[in-house]
Amino acid sequence: MLDKKISDLLIQQINMELYSAYLYLDMANYYEDESLNGFANWMFIQTQEERDHAMLFRTYLLDNDVRVTLGTIQGIDLEYKGHGDPFTLALEHERKVTASINNIYKEALDLHDYGTVQFLDWFVKEQVEEEKNATDNIKRYELFAHESRGLYNLDQEFATRVYSAPSIAA
Ligand code: MG
Repeated sequence: MLDKKISDLLIQQINMELYSAYLYLDMANYYEDESLNGFANWMFIQTQEERDHAMLFRTYLLDNDVRVTLGTIQGIDLEYKGHGDPFTLALEHERKVTASINNIYKEALDLHDYGTVQFLDWFVKEQVEEEKNATDNIKRYELFAHESRGLYNLDQEFATRVYSAPSIAA
């Protein structure tokens, strides 16, 4: 049985993951509106992954006999200052997600809740990947997107990203 503190934190994390999906969807909408369809594709796949993260938390809670309640998801009201701006905001956001996962991990360790610790291991690894991807996107945008051919090629590359469902089985 999960400690109430842990189940509350995990339910909050569902909200954060769904908010992440919403945030990336807004970025996809922005890019598609700007005719950067490859950039939009990259962000849309990110949206799908965030929804998957939320569902993984949901399944873990249900497997532990927790009634999962759903709170309000905050809306997105962002004005992007340029085509590179979403990447910078994405990195800032992922750092917050990492801090949140780390906090649940710490609480689970303090409560000797090793089931949750093991469940969260996948997310700890995932967050390293998310921050790496966000950082790569910022650097690649800065390197290549200052002229139109570079921007076009980057858009073509982002168009090749393919969604695959996460496998949490380790
Ligand atoms: Mg996530």
